[in-house]
Amino acid sequence: MAPSKWQSDRVGQIEDSITLAISALAKKMKSEGLDVIGFGAGEPDFDTPEFIKEAAIKAIQAGKNKYTDSPGILELREAICATLLADHNLTYSPKQIVTTVGAKHAIYNAMMAILNPGDEVIIPAPYWVSYPAQVILAAGKPVIVQTDESTEFKISPQQLEAAITPRTKCVIINSPSNPTGMMYTRDELAALAEVIVRKDILVLSDEIYEKLVYTDVAHVSIASISEEAKKRTILVNGVSKAYAMTGWRMGYVAAELDIIEGINRIQSHSTSNVTANAQYAALAAYTGSQEAVEAMRVAFDRRRKLMVKLLNEIPGVSCLEPQGAFYAFPNISSFFGKKSKTGTVTDTASFCDLLLKESLVALVPGIGFESDTCVRLSYATSDAQIEAGIKRLKDWLASLK
Ligand SMILES: *Cc1c(COP(=O)(O)O)cnc(C)c1O
Repeated sequence: MAPSKWQSDRVGQIEDSITLAISALAKKMKSEGLDVIGFGAGEPDFDTPEFIKEAAIKAIQAGKNKYTDSPGILELREAICATLLADHNLTYSPKQIVTTVGAKHAIYNAMMAILNPGDEVIIPAPYWVSYPAQVILAAGKPVIVQTDESTEFKISPQQLEAAITPRTKCVIINSPSNPTGMMYTRDELAALAEVIVRKDILVLSDEIYEKLVYTDVAHVSIASISEEAKKRTILVNGVSKAYAMTGWRMGYVAAELDIIEGINRIQSHSTSNVTANAQYAALAAYTGSQEAVEAMRVAFDRRRKLMVKLLNEIPGVSCLEPQGAFYAFPNISSFFGKKSKTGTVTDTASFCDLLLKESLVALVPGIGFESDTCVRLSYATSDAQIEAGIKRLKDWLASLK
């Protein structure tokens, strides 16, 4: 739509989320009766485990239907602290936790709480689409640092240091990564933390995929590198990906008190609190059996292996082995310049567009993550869909001239 006089300049500075747009188009084509195979999804295909749903139903029936404290019910914040201690040996007090309307909102609140106009936030690309948009909405300036396969799409301490200016406030680290599936090792995080501490900047650590890891690279929180690193870490996590709870909208921030105070102030004037029953559901997720998480992780791992194997069997496609999350991010740039039935593949956007129209397979173009050589495929779908969809992709690629 053309800009309207009723739209703020702020709205004009950002674009609609490309991942949501592709999912919407694929859904629309499906509803028109087309047999689309979608690899666009950014969420688990599993349902929320039963005991979590029951906890929310019980909370509703028990009358837990009022406002809660703005940062969330104390039991939940205590459970989050217990989880951080058990998983990462990180000591936070419940006062240092704010629950938010999803991890996405946690990051938004954090940016609103720390940025002054013009403050810079370093974002390694390929990046999750909402980071730059959220920085811009908070009047900050995204500073993109490009990475590629040669470093497994990870930023080096030298690259980080070179991007730091007197206006730098924060760097965003997302491990395991969406869209690449790559993970930083403890040593790599320690090297980044050394720069962060020496240069005295903050790090927003988006750990939403921490429970979905498949290789012997363990998930490490950068906050656990040292006390000094922890003081500068804004740790973001939530229940969406690990517990198949994307629709519940429940995430959290753990950080130093001054940052948390700012976030609380903003939250108390915007959302007030996370929906009460979603908080009780999250409490059950964190304190209940973790068996369902493990069962989902095992299924994702099987699909990951299948998808990566099938992708790498296609001539001209090369895909690093993702270590976490649920995405493969193959390089398809060897097809640029080739012609399909109805057009020419010139970049990742035209690649995905032509593939969807001609062979009914929905992928997400890397350009959406500022990486115009790769495409993202989610393996949060069935083995049968993976086999059928990659076969279609393979046949379509073979038909290109
Ligand atoms: C899905 C996702 C989020 C947001 O998760 P919600 O808790 O559902 O808001 C944040 N960061 C990354 C990298 C994601 O993929």
